[in-house]
Amino acid sequence: MSYDVNNIFARILRQEIPCKKVFEDEKILAFHDICPRAPIHILIIPKGEYISFHDFHSHADAETVAHFYQKVAEIAAEFKLDEAGYRVIANCGLNGGQEVPHYHLHLLGGTKLGGF
Ligand code: AMP
Repeated sequence: MSYDVNNIFARILRQEIPCKKVFEDEKILAFHDICPRAPIHILIIPKGEYISFHDFHSHADAETVAHFYQKVAEIAAEFKLDEAGYRVIANCGLNGGQEVPHYHLHLLGGTKLGGF
């Protein structure tokens, strides 16, 4: 499977469609999920063309991966989720329920989340 340059997150990265931005630097973009499943539901995406969690971890260099997760933790702290806790989810591929084929991490918090 090759990367679809017209997936919705690629279009957000190209600023063809808007997002409610939380954070951006040269490597990542974070924005509010359009259909939040918790009081705080943020999506964090790398700017590189990675299809999924698996693709990201198979092909991104170690510095890119470390930077990504460091920023996820910083964003969680910025939204004051660190003390009460939060959840991060990466749906991967068809069986994982991934709908948008650009790697993204869901950051959920602001309430006690239900179990799976
Ligand atoms: P997944 O099922 O893991 O691929 O999650 C895709 C997520 O992207 C869902 O939670 C959607 O609500 C969210 N989403 C889809 N389109 C947009 C958009 N334009 N802006 C923000 N979030 C979006």
